[in-house]
Amino acid sequence: MPIDPYAPYDDNNIFARILRGELPCKKVYEDDFALAFHDINPQAPVHILVIPKARYVSWDDFTIHATDGEISGFIRAVGAVAREHGLVEPGYRLLANVGQHGHQEVPHLHVHLFGGRQFYAMIPQ
Ligand code: AMP
Repeated sequence: MPIDPYAPYDDNNIFARILRGELPCKKVYEDDFALAFHDINPQAPVHILVIPKARYVSWDDFTIHATDGEISGFIRAVGAVAREHGLVEPGYRLLANVGQHGHQEVPHLHVHLFGGRQFYAMIPQ
């Protein structure tokens, strides 16, 4: 079920539990601002989720309430993960689902990083 974009942050969401070390993940990157790990149900040869360490429900929440340092730290982390996986030259795709229409299912901001193959239509019809 897509999340309610107006709900307060849920400290028991699955990514909050991964950040606290209560659930495992296949970690590929970590710094002060972000954690990145393989998606449990990959949709491409490379499918990595990058999440901020701080408590933000969505891209909307993040871009309203995060500090400039948190925003720049998170966005730089997304770029670093792509570079570290050799995705810049062949290219890659970023996706952030937001709320009901975006079909966001986990209520902790995450950016999907897809790579390792050619992509075509941006939105399936
Ligand atoms: P979204 O629809 O943008 O909220 O995507 C949530 C993503 O989280 C999906 O691609 C899921 O496969 C992924 N996911 C859910 N639980 C886990 C988990 N424990 N570890 C890694 N990825 C997960």
